[in-house]
Amino acid sequence: MRIIDHDKILNELNGKLETSKAGIREILAKGRELHGIDYREVLELLHVDEAGLLEEVFATARHIKNEIYGNRLVLFAPLYVSNLCNNECVYCAFRSSNKKLARKVLTQEEVGEETEVLLSRGHKRVLLVAGESYPDEGLEYVFKCIETIYSVRLPKANIRRINVNVAPLSVDEFKQLHEYKIGTYQLFQETYHEETYGKLHIAGRKRDYNWRLEAVHRAFEGGFDDVGIGILFGLADWRYEILALLQHINKLEKSYGIGPHTISVPRLEPALGSDISRNPPYPVSDADFRKIIAVLRIAVPYTGIILSTRESAKMRREAFGLGISQISAGSRANPGGYMHNEPEESDAGSQFFLGDHRPLQEVIRDIVAHGYIPSFCTGCYRLGRVGGDFMDLARPGLIKNHCLPNGIYSFAEYLEDYADDALKKSGYGLINEITRNGVADDGMKLAIRDNIEKIIGGERDVYF
Ligand code: SAM
Ligand code: SF4
Repeated sequence: MRIIDHDKILNELNGKLETSKAGIREILAKGRELHGIDYREVLELLHVDEAGLLEEVFATARHIKNEIYGNRLVLFAPLYVSNLCNNECVYCAFRSSNKKLARKVLTQEEVGEETEVLLSRGHKRVLLVAGESYPDEGLEYVFKCIETIYSVRLPKANIRRINVNVAPLSVDEFKQLHEYKIGTYQLFQETYHEETYGKLHIAGRKRDYNWRLEAVHRAFEGGFDDVGIGILFGLADWRYEILALLQHINKLEKSYGIGPHTISVPRLEPALGSDISRNPPYPVSDADFRKIIAVLRIAVPYTGIILSTRESAKMRREAFGLGISQISAGSRANPGGYMHNEPEESDAGSQFFLGDHRPLQEVIRDIVAHGYIPSFCTGCYRLGRVGGDFMDLARPGLIKNHCLPNGIYSFAEYLEDYADDALKKSGYGLINEITRNGVADDGMKLAIRDNIEKIIGGERDVYF
């Protein structure tokens, strides 16, 4: 299967690009229509460097984010179940030859304990993450972890959605995984630049560039409605990566009638015993990173963009306005990191060192102070609004009308069950303000007020 046309990307990048302010403004005007922009137009935006014009690119991204998603940010936590790995990705602390790393495979009891800690802090959505080796039980281990996570129930809380970021599977294995009622299967290509890929993945199954590239296609074949893709920025020229990512999206749309549900934009972070992670061959500056997020938001307006705690609190704040729709918060990147609460800098089995160490409640306080509703909502998945159905809902802008109230309910539940008095006050203040000024329909306003009363009265898991 041909997905990436390397020569085409090189020709585009090396060719002469005729751009003008007027031309860029035309592209931005097209972007504001919320139907996305094409490959060539993305290339032109990626070359915008003049401060004033760049500000117009950012303003367009902000407009699109607001039109489609409103001021809502979906929150999740990664749950690392194992850091064993047969691969040798030179940038990752989990690589098989790294003797400095403390190895750990969680038992099912420990998976349950980790889940309890996340629930006790207010999380409802987790991303299950593992290195690429399950020594004794094979893939069965991942299945058991999913069952364990879903089975944990606290009086007012349970995990309502698990997304999964594990090694590429065969179509048959994807079919089995799909039976476990997970949400998105997520896999990052790391770099789409094949030659660079070969140099950075030096042993194990992950050496096979195409096996990884075609994984999300196999996931669709295996019955998944939603897949997530991503790039690990810092490994190759980011302009190359973005054009290749768009080619990948186009191929998915042509083959399955739908693109990825999410795009993740991790930047390389320092990892234990990895020189390259400290000295990325193609570092992405903060300025370029902002541009990447904004251009992606304009190019694929209905695809969620995920930002993790690899980034600092400051960068995360800036990125929310530019198009990020989902973030992880209060994260640990080592198996057992939540229950032992080890500082991640202790080298105790973390995949990389995090940029944002704040606990969930602090992140929420910050999000609210910046006018965003933190959402733990999982209504769509549980009502079967996934894949093409989700996109149909999203396209006419309805996502805002469903997701905003549902996000508000999930936040009100958080405020009732976990927040201190100060956060409760500012949180309900924001909910009232957004309901008053951000919801046009009077019936919807009433429904929101009604449902909040129910939540204050003790009802939980309210969504429509
Ligand atoms: N082992 C599986 C894999 O490689 O796809 C799944 C999980 S892996 C733990 C999740 C992601 O972490 C990788 O896809 C990679 O992009 C990212 N990662 C690895 N090392 C990193 C580093 N030093 N800094 C930032 N992200 C890193
Ligand atoms: Fe293993 Fe994934 Fe790390 Fe590569 S990125 S060494 S496959 S855990």
